[in-house]
Amino acid sequence: MEQSGKIYLVATPIGNLGDMSPRAIETLRAADLIAAEDTRNTIKLLNHFEIKTHMTSYHEYNRTEKAYELVRRAEQGEIIAVVSDAGMPAISDPGEVLVRMALDAGIEVTIVPGPCAAVSALAISGQPTGRFVFEAFLPQEKKERRARLEGLRDETRTIVLYEAPHRLTKTLAELAEVLGGERELSLVRELTKRHEEVQRGNFSYFLERYAEEAGRAEIRGEYVLVISGKSEEELRAEEISVFSDFTPAEHVAWYESQGFDRKEAMKKAAKDRGISRRELYHMLL
Ligand code: SAM
Repeated sequence: MEQSGKIYLVATPIGNLGDMSPRAIETLRAADLIAAEDTRNTIKLLNHFEIKTHMTSYHEYNRTEKAYELVRRAEQGEIIAVVSDAGMPAISDPGEVLVRMALDAGIEVTIVPGPCAAVSALAISGQPTGRFVFEAFLPQEKKERRARLEGLRDETRTIVLYEAPHRLTKTLAELAEVLGGERELSLVRELTKRHEEVQRGNFSYFLERYAEEAGRAEIRGEYVLVISGKSEEELRAEEISVFSDFTPAEHVAWYESQGFDRKEAMKKAAKDRGISRRELYHMLL
């Protein structure tokens, strides 16, 4: 029987070449083929580490046809290593389609872990790390972007976003509009590079600061936005204020209209109003 090959997702540095792991170097040297997002970019990395393996391009625009070809090659026994321009392949980078196709075809997919901008930024952000949601880049299309922003309005987990420097001020303003100027965030910039920094503050602070900076010069560097989630208290206060116009009877009826039985509807309405069920019962009489 023909021996099947394997696909390795190989993480590469997001700035500092010292973060290239010995296993990443070995894997790239031993592979039959390297599938790279941008071969002109990756050649510099390969030259630096004296890796002579043949390369082919695998990027956003050929991701499906090329993934098909790479899977066929792996089926014929080749070892394929996948790299993106920087960081973890398949995370906001090509690779996702290939992984799914390879797994569907029964090809083993394995990982050589390493730098990932999202997780690195979260770790040093100072924001809560226990629960987080990664949103990659917000969509550019207006309607989709609005829907995604709206979807974040009541998010209680820490939000991690990528953004390009030339869109930073616009994105900050849009996020502030939805999440409020008081919401805290960490702007994590140039990870592992000379100008690495974490700036913390609320949206109002950053809007003022970046409006000034944008006026002076072009904003440069690579950014990750790590935004604290809405607090449970804030969410609860908003829910209560929504019900403040309801009479007790309307409040219970609203929960009943949502499918709760009378007992559960009364329990929920009493909780919203910060009173006991007995008090609510008397109010309804
Ligand atoms: N796959 C990569 C990863 O997992 O790290 C992310 C690729 S995504 C196309 C590129 C975005 O990642 C940048 O626009 C920026 O938001 C973020 N990024 C990459 N390198 C960074 C760095 N050194 N410092 C801060 N953000 C970085």
